[in-house]
Amino acid sequence: MDIKINKLSSYIKGFKKPLIIAGPCSAESNKQLLDTAYALQKTKTSIFRAGIWKPRTRPNSFEGVGVKGLEWLNNVQKETGLKVMTEVANAKHVEQVLKSNIDMLWVGARTTVNPFAVQEIAESLRGVDIPVFIKNPINPDMNLWLGAIERFANIGCEKLVAIHRGFFSYGSKKYRNMPQWQLPVELKRILPNIPIICDPSHIAGSRDLIESVSQKAIDLNFDGLMIESHIDPDNALSDKGQQISPNELGILVAKLVIRHNTISDKDFELSLEELRSQIDSLDNDLIATLMNRMNIAELIGKHKKENDVTILQPLRWEYILENRTFNGLKSGLSKDFMTLLLRAIHQESINIQTDIMNNKNRK
Ligand code: PEP
Ligand code: MN
Repeated sequence: MDIKINKLSSYIKGFKKPLIIAGPCSAESNKQLLDTAYALQKTKTSIFRAGIWKPRTRPNSFEGVGVKGLEWLNNVQKETGLKVMTEVANAKHVEQVLKSNIDMLWVGARTTVNPFAVQEIAESLRGVDIPVFIKNPINPDMNLWLGAIERFANIGCEKLVAIHRGFFSYGSKKYRNMPQWQLPVELKRILPNIPIICDPSHIAGSRDLIESVSQKAIDLNFDGLMIESHIDPDNALSDKGQQISPNELGILVAKLVIRHNTISDKDFELSLEELRSQIDSLDNDLIATLMNRMNIAELIGKHKKENDVTILQPLRWEYILENRTFNGLKSGLSKDFMTLLLRAIHQESINIQTDIMNNKNRK
């Protein structure tokens, strides 16, 4: 897709991967912001974040300090030289943020889900040259995320960045928001120029997982991290379970293993090429095997049709799932992978057999 998107290095002075954005979930007081910012200044943080209008799931929780927080952010700019950013959710927010010379802004997950709100924010930025960071929508809907990015591109915004903050899923789970890494990877395939930042705090929901999520993002070649950091995390007014102190943030960032996208080493390239050609040929074998399997499924479909037997045979499906998963596990493949793979194969067989029942030709 052809959208003009600027490189981070063109507008972030001294940009070096990974870009570190840090700061509290919410601005609470001038002192809390300054204490946090001064401490973060000693780390690799280059952009300071703080929310002043907080979209909270339930009313009567702390909903942010509002416009007075903008002055505090200005104090952070003046005192520490850090660039500052905050979240906007409507045109009024944008107007106030622009009046206060805030450096960058982000659109939250609860806003990205709403095309009306995104369009309103985008319109209010027409002709303004400010970087816009767009979080993924709460639900794993690629088109909503892409659509939000397009709305900003359409009004002429070229400093666009995507933020992966995970996706809501129902029920108890390890992460507050499931990472579903395939979505940011797919976004990058569609928009190869878009920088992507990971927000491990909102994915993790708890301090102990922030490091592993950060490392995973770096391994997937993300451009940076947005980590919630508070001078006194235990007493934070919002999201306290997922904020770390600036000191902890410094340690975490220093521990990250930074991998290169590529290196210019002939031996490395040759062995990579060799391994890739093996993968190419194995993938072709897999496709041929799957094709054979579908041809048999087609024959079974015809057989069932001639004998008026239903397509879905639950006992047979249960046996396949159990037996193949068992074999897969024995070979070192994970249960999740086996289940996903078998479900996809089984679904395709059912589709083929349904076509047979409906007299539709496969090829
Ligand atoms: C935040 O960054 O504090 C925030 C509200 O994030 P999200 O929109 O990802 O929930
Ligand atoms: Mn937060």
